[in-house]
Amino acid sequence: MDDRLCKYAKLLIETGVNLQKGQRLIISSPVESAGFARLCTSAAYDAGCREVVVRWTDDYITREKYLRGENCIFDEMPEWQTRFYNDYSEEGAAFLSIHASDPEALKGVDPDRLRRANVSSGKALEPFRRRQMTNLFQWCVVSVPTEAWAKKVFPGLGVEAAVNRLWDEIYKCVRVADGNDPVKLWREHIEMLRVRRETLTKYQFKSLHYVNSIGTDLMVGLPENHVWEGGSEVTLGGIPFCANIPTEEVFSAPKKDSVSGSVVASKPLVLGGNIIEGLKFELENGKIVRVEAEKGKDIVDNELMVDEGSPYLGEVALVPFDSPISNSGILFYNTLFDENASCHFAFGKAYPCVKNGSSMSPEELKSAGLNDSITHVDFMIGTPDLSVTGITESGEKIPVFVNGNFAF
Ligand code: ZN
Ligand code: ZN
Repeated sequence: MDDRLCKYAKLLIETGVNLQKGQRLIISSPVESAGFARLCTSAAYDAGCREVVVRWTDDYITREKYLRGENCIFDEMPEWQTRFYNDYSEEGAAFLSIHASDPEALKGVDPDRLRRANVSSGKALEPFRRRQMTNLFQWCVVSVPTEAWAKKVFPGLGVEAAVNRLWDEIYKCVRVADGNDPVKLWREHIEMLRVRRETLTKYQFKSLHYVNSIGTDLMVGLPENHVWEGGSEVTLGGIPFCANIPTEEVFSAPKKDSVSGSVVASKPLVLGGNIIEGLKFELENGKIVRVEAEKGKDIVDNELMVDEGSPYLGEVALVPFDSPISNSGILFYNTLFDENASCHFAFGKAYPCVKNGSSMSPEELKSAGLNDSITHVDFMIGTPDLSVTGITESGEKIPVFVNGNFAF
């Protein structure tokens, strides 16, 4: 077996979820990736796991459900599924999510069914999501190649060659190579991101002005006492973990009602098993008031309708254009990789990126200026000519990004 595979599994257990002795681990994995889920299971027991519980997913079965299931099932979430996530998260289990879907698994599915299913699972799993976004437990999202996904990324290769090539690219992005120590490399990487986010937090910019040549001209207000996050996070109980592997971003939360202008997506976006292309938004007083897309506009429109907060931004993230995933030049059709290759925003729920945010109630976060929603959708906007200017309380203008990269 490829030595890199075991190192990758170990990295996810040690640096990703940072599993503690006696802690339970919940893995969700596509059935196709069972071999990798088994390796993660063994690595978890090596680390002293109490019990590994696996939830299998399958693109084909999910697609059949959306196409052929009875209409009423999209408005309900069974009690046992709700309890699975809510109970395990309340216990403080760690969650490892192996995300490796066919980017177009749900192409042609009625967007209304997707929206209704989102709303019902969003409502039922609200306690789980809230605990996740306030870091009450360790969680980590990762990817491994599946055949359909690999063929989408490398359409010119045969299935086996495409899967092998995607493995190679993933190993590069997650800093796993023959003969190296990825856990050590990640420690250094996390330290670099810590310095970057602390520098940004110190500035306490009142707003950020984004401009590039593809049509983005956006003013993004930031709330008082905002903090920048990135690299590793810490649970309320004090355990560091990495929510995404790979991760290259530092991020914060915009002030809900203080974003205006135009923003143009620089990469296609995979949303609800569909590919969205040529996406543009116009915002006024924080709200997305106009949507354009060359492909998949109905999917975006539906997602923006899920609740009051969905058409407002919930994340502002900075990623240098000159970064390992971006330099690969590959379009991954997988948000975990594409968002870590590009500056991005998300519409929907904000992470509690204000001072003491993790211990604030939803009402307190709202009055701090942060957006709330059951959805959170990242979209990529970074280009080689992107400039981001920070504007301080006193009106001073500080270059944050020049020509797609950090100015400091
Ligand atoms: Zn992000
Ligand atoms: Zn995000």
